Amino acid sequence: MNDALEKALLDAGADIVGFAGVEDILKPEIAHLTRAVSIGVCRNLNEGTVRLLAELKKRAVRMLKKEGYKYLSIPADSDRIKHNTFIAKLYPLFPHKMAATSAGLGWIGRNGLLINPDYGPRLSLATVLTDAPLKAGRPVRKSMCGNCRLCVEHCPSNALTGREWSREKPYIELIRLQCCKDHKKERRSVNGKPNCGLCITICPHGRKDKCKDQNSKLRNEKN
Ligand code: SF4
Ligand code: SF4
Repeated sequence: MNDALEKALLDAGADIVGFAGVEDILKPEIAHLTRAVSIGVCRNLNEGTVRLLAELKKRAVRMLKKEGYKYLSIPADSDRIKHNTFIAKLYPLFPHKMAATSAGLGWIGRNGLLINPDYGPRLSLATVLTDAPLKAGRPVRKSMCGNCRLCVEHCPSNALTGREWSREKPYIELIRLQCCKDHKKERRSVNGKPNCGLCITICPHGRKDKCKDQNSKLRNEKN
């Protein structure tokens, strides 16, 4: 079923799809769902991206349901903030980045983001958990940031701790979230926009032009 799912999701606009075995890392509430489908799109996380990720998850769910498998669609980050739903409350049980690293799509960089060899830190992610017997990819076990500290050194709010992620220490503090939030708030008061994103643009990993290609393709499709 891996190939059919992957093809369907890529055809529908995903840039990358991975499959993870997650039986050893799930909380007991959802431990019966031993596989994760990790879906990435190379776009900024905005409303359009959230809609696209939701569509992709629906497509995966439809296929799993048709074959009689159980599933749990994990909401996008922004949905979790907006909605006080049951599913939103389940979010802390399984972050998207955990699915992606478990599927072998990349590691967590010093900037706290998934770093993929092709797309760098520019992927927005979605996850569907399932009990379908999907063939799992090989998890990434440690950071490949190496000696690079560019994001740490250039973060204007000193939000990045500079520590290194590994699968054994998945929740090590990489970002002082409040510092990042305060900086974005300050920027909003100056120019009306809360964004910073320097820790994304400065990362040397991934091909920036690859994402640009995808974005211009999307624009062309719209016109
Ligand atoms: S978004 Fe800006 S302030 Fe926040 S961690 Fe990245 S570089 Fe630092
Ligand atoms: S800028 Fe360097 S240290 Fe930061 S996430 Fe990218 S590779 Fe890692």
